[in-house]
Amino acid sequence: MNKLFKALVYDRQVSLSVLDTTDLVNKAIKIHSLSGKSAELLGNLLTVCAYMSGCLKSPKGAVSITVKSPEGSGSASVSGDVDLHIRGYVDGSCKHTFVGGALTVIKDDGFYRPFVGACQIESDDVSRIMCDYFRQSEQIPTAVSVGVKLAEDGTCTAAGGVVMQLLPGTSEENVAKAEERMQAFTDPASVIEQYGADGVIRNFFDGDIDQKGLYLLHPDYICNCSRSKIEGIIVPLGRDELLSVCDEQGAVSVHCHYCNTDYTFDKDDILKLFDK
Ligand SMILES: [Zn+2]
Repeated sequence: MNKLFKALVYDRQVSLSVLDTTDLVNKAIKIHSLSGKSAELLGNLLTVCAYMSGCLKSPKGAVSITVKSPEGSGSASVSGDVDLHIRGYVDGSCKHTFVGGALTVIKDDGFYRPFVGACQIESDDVSRIMCDYFRQSEQIPTAVSVGVKLAEDGTCTAAGGVVMQLLPGTSEENVAKAEERMQAFTDPASVIEQYGADGVIRNFFDGDIDQKGLYLLHPDYICNCSRSKIEGIIVPLGRDELLSVCDEQGAVSVHCHYCNTDYTFDKDDILKLFDK
């Protein structure tokens, strides 16, 4: 089961998140038939998205993260919401470097306008990209270490990571403690594989953690699309337009990139939609 532990550590001055997203990443690999670099890229982005979704406050909160390669040959996009329903997809090839490309984050906490942050990609390491993003766009010192470990058969044996974020006014001593502790997570997938998320809390943070504030969430790969939602998207196109698509192509078909599902509406379906 996927896990996201959240807690405060080091005199409650540093927020800690520990993630095990192995099942989530395996679902993504299966849905999209991913392998190699694509599986790693999407897996790491899904883990980061699970972390950021766990930070949302509003019941309508949602976050999306997109990375694009510089020449536009490849991109990956993930979305999550306050229920920790995480989903994503890869478009094009991820074989080439993303350095010089762009990262875009859209965070909608349900209040006012969504926050849009962007930064240039300076590494193919998702952990580095996200550290740069938090520093440049949100001005919050954040250490991100996420990883995906793949077996020979292409399945994910471990995925997850550790995120530490300094709260305002963190003492120099506690900054140093957090920095030193992060050194243990240079290969986070192996650490998750060995200890599990629970074990990481016990073995690396026992004594430094505020036990009362420790809580556990369960992110999962869940798409929020449905036939009725797709109906809501196509109806504004109008009855005549949709019927003419049916005449030309046999049916109106809409593909959900996140879960690889096709929704098909034939002439009868379209007529029924406008009969309501
Ligand atoms: Zn879907």
